[in-house]
Amino acid sequence: MARTDLTALPDLYDLARGNDAARPYWNPERETMPAERLAALQLEKLRVQLRYLRDNSALYQAKFRESGVAPEDVRSLADLALVPFTTKHELRASQDAAPPFGLHQAAPMDRIVRTTATSGTSGKPVYQGYSRNDVLRRSESVCRGFWGYGIRPGDRVVNGFALSMFSAGVPFNVGLEQLGAVSIPAGAERKAEGVLKIIRDLRATALVSTPSFAAYLAEKSPEVLGVPARELGVRVICGGGESGFEQPAFQQLMEQQWGTPFVYDWASSSDAHPNIFAHCAEREGKHHLTGDMVLTQLIDPATGAMREIADGAEGEYIITHLDREACPLLRYRTGDILRVRTKPCACGRTGFRMDIIGRSDDMLIVRGINVFPIALVNIVGEFLPQATGKAQVVLQAAGTKVEPPVRLRVECGDGIDPGSAQALEMKAGIEKKIRADLSVTTNIELVAFGRFERTAAKTRLVVIEPA
Ligand SMILES: [Zn+2]
Repeated sequence: MARTDLTALPDLYDLARGNDAARPYWNPERETMPAERLAALQLEKLRVQLRYLRDNSALYQAKFRESGVAPEDVRSLADLALVPFTTKHELRASQDAAPPFGLHQAAPMDRIVRTTATSGTSGKPVYQGYSRNDVLRRSESVCRGFWGYGIRPGDRVVNGFALSMFSAGVPFNVGLEQLGAVSIPAGAERKAEGVLKIIRDLRATALVSTPSFAAYLAEKSPEVLGVPARELGVRVICGGGESGFEQPAFQQLMEQQWGTPFVYDWASSSDAHPNIFAHCAEREGKHHLTGDMVLTQLIDPATGAMREIADGAEGEYIITHLDREACPLLRYRTGDILRVRTKPCACGRTGFRMDIIGRSDDMLIVRGINVFPIALVNIVGEFLPQATGKAQVVLQAAGTKVEPPVRLRVECGDGIDPGSAQALEMKAGIEKKIRADLSVTTNIELVAFGRFERTAAKTRLVVIEPA
């Protein structure tokens, strides 16, 4: 039986206090909490959560036993380094051993009311269960992010992510209902035509999707609706799932296509909710908005050693749920490599900010230099509108060691012929910029506009094509 001390919900903004559209934060107390108070709250909650795991989760009981660490041994947030990591591989094995949710499940089945699944691109999907309280906390995280984008009651928000099982699908729509906005679960399953008609018919004021899909909708709008997207009246364009919305050149493209400057990025690990990072209006890195519910720490991805969350620090982030009931994770390795910003933000939120700079599992080593494919693609993003920003690394065989030049396939912008002088000048420009910024030589293969698939799913950063 789940311990009752996890059921209190002080993390949630109490709607009984009103839903004043003029307040700048969804949850003013939690989003502007001074760092020392947040750390004290995290430690207090962590201690309860660790005891909860020992009492209720077979996976973590075994981890405590094998490592010889007891929950009582963790007296500071740094002490958490005594506890072993949890990996995606372990979650899969755990799920195989004890379906449906795995040995880490800590709440009885009759307390679980929601499921999501992480995408199966790198193996079998992992299913997550959520208790009613987990659902409420997830909605709270959605509200904090969307409120920061300027979404208010009365806004009509179209969800253009895939709805089926995806953590940014149905859970986003439930969160939008909690915020008081008009939640529109259009879903990428409707394809661009269907989503565009819903945007028009319901006079949508906001769209949340992958950046690829937002760009594709804008491309298709004249053909499907007979008007450019900028005439549809959509005020906020936001989402994530791949790089794009954080890049100034892509933001400008969105601004032209949709006729609005309010373009925002979002990031999270699908296994880690309610952990979220989201832009504020300043758009200088994404704030960690849920530090009161999820402890986020930084490690050296090679050695696993802890790194301090300090300005400019880089590393893989790991998460520990502080009050998750159904499927809690402890020191879970997300694989996302980020760079931290800790200087105070003009918006007043106190959660540290970050930029994702890579994935630990797709890092390439080019003559001893570590290169993240996303870093290459992000440089291509600086060459809009001659390029669309879509690009992928082409490898002859799987593996991390790559001989230079690295082959990089880049899609030309609308109306740009890959053989034209303009395109070749761009090719030289991208190669030069990558060499200057990342000390890596590349061989750019230009492909025509439309060659990359236009779907709601994220574009693969690396493809294997044997010669
Ligand atoms: Zn801010």
